[in-house]
Amino acid sequence: FQVPMAENEPVQGYAPGSEEKEELQAAIAELKSNPIDAPMVIGGKEVRTGNTVSMHPPHDHAYNLGSFHMGDKSHVEAAINAALTAKKEWANTPWQDRAAIFLKAAELLAGPFRARMNAATMLCQSKNAFQAEIDASCELIDFFRYNVQYMTEVYAEQPESAPGIWNRLEYRPLEGFIFAITPFNFTSIAANLCAAPAMMGNVVVWKPSDTQIYSAQVIMDLFKAAGLPDGVINMVYCDGPAAGDVVFNHPDFAGLHFTGSTAVFKHLWKTIGTNIDKYKTYPRIVGETGGKDFIIAHKSANAKEVATGISRGAFEFQGQKCSAASRAYLPSNIANEIIEQVKTDVNSFKMGNPEDFSNFINAVIDERSFDKIAGFIDYAKSSDDAEIIAGGNYDKSKGYFIEPTVIVTKNVKFKTMCEEIFGPVMTIYIYDADKFEETLEILDQTSEYALTGAIFSTCRYAIGTATKMLENCAGNFYINDKPTGAVVGQQPFGGARGSGTNDKAGAAMNLLRWVSARTIKETF
Ligand code: GLU
Repeated sequence: FQVPMAENEPVQGYAPGSEEKEELQAAIAELKSNPIDAPMVIGGKEVRTGNTVSMHPPHDHAYNLGSFHMGDKSHVEAAINAALTAKKEWANTPWQDRAAIFLKAAELLAGPFRARMNAATMLCQSKNAFQAEIDASCELIDFFRYNVQYMTEVYAEQPESAPGIWNRLEYRPLEGFIFAITPFNFTSIAANLCAAPAMMGNVVVWKPSDTQIYSAQVIMDLFKAAGLPDGVINMVYCDGPAAGDVVFNHPDFAGLHFTGSTAVFKHLWKTIGTNIDKYKTYPRIVGETGGKDFIIAHKSANAKEVATGISRGAFEFQGQKCSAASRAYLPSNIANEIIEQVKTDVNSFKMGNPEDFSNFINAVIDERSFDKIAGFIDYAKSSDDAEIIAGGNYDKSKGYFIEPTVIVTKNVKFKTMCEEIFGPVMTIYIYDADKFEETLEILDQTSEYALTGAIFSTCRYAIGTATKMLENCAGNFYINDKPTGAVVGQQPFGGARGSGTNDKAGAAMNLLRWVSARTIKETF
């Protein structure tokens, strides 16, 4: 079970005048001069319905990126049929051949596809160059490389045998097809939700987010260039409920790989439950959903480190990470120092079009998000319980721009301390520095979600107490670091409670969900 040793892809810096910056700018110019006419891809064939929807960058309504072709139930049915047809050969393809395709995809992305994938992610999802690089290139390359390694770990797990008896485990793909529903915020997650089951011999029907279609097209091109056979991953654009109606009533539905909102995931789970008698097998349900990620500082913490944790953890990619810090508990002895530093950091962030690489903050994804986030800011503005100490302005006239906003509240259960916002809004609560344990208790009780969280402290006892008392509050827990930016191969990622099934992305335990093992006993 030897495969090339996985290594993290080094992050390119895109410094002024660097070769990679020039390449990326050229890729952006190339995409902009060729508006896309994005098809669905079913059984390897491009399908255009003529029912087109135009696409605009979130940061520039006036610019037309092209359009995509909307499908309907018949296309979802066709995608399922194409997947089931492809499955006959794919499920019996030796694992080495499957692995080789994804290793090839990793190398293509590290090389010729890199600039285009990053450019598409910048234009379509409004990510800055650095955030696009760590997502669309490095993280996706890492998913491919590490999952190939983890795949061999899964297959290597074999039972004991004895003289005259040979026991073995055969890891079969699931019987049926997998449905992948993917988010806009990480190009790498969208691709990996399809690639991880496919790697294990499964076939996939993929419904990307309508706001990630530009990079989804590049992902499909990448899979094709890497040699993935037609029909193994099929991409459809379709209204969610219509697609669900076809998929969740199909006898061959075998698994859901989902990243998105908690409400949608719960709804899908219930639908699957209601339809359970229709399926040949119990479907696997794997989901990563919402978050209300926290930072808590102990009175011993280094104020500057906490401030950096807040400003980076809350505002990278406009806070549109499930992992983004959105509430902070600061001890009274150093709270002011931290807040002053956060203000300075936040006021230094430049906001604008990602094509200008000096802009750290870009636009939020669409009007629905913009309105929802603005609603939270307005709520804070009108409340006696809160004060906005940085940002607070928003403007959707040119693009969906919202200033990174910091709220301070005296009410530990204030709306923006508890509800998921998924935008550039951080709420700070100042606690009595001598009431650390009481605050940990409140934090636990108010954590409906449990995705990520961070403790900042220089005191080992405080770190130990927080680690223990918050054990159910975060699937990814960070000590003296921001709660975002999990690296594949280093910090397997996923949350519990309302945040998901915690089948860590980029780990053998995720791949295990996509196999159905057969135990074989042979006697001699
Ligand atoms: N894995 C990402 C991180 O650690 C977050 C993924 C997400 O937002 O879904 O920051």
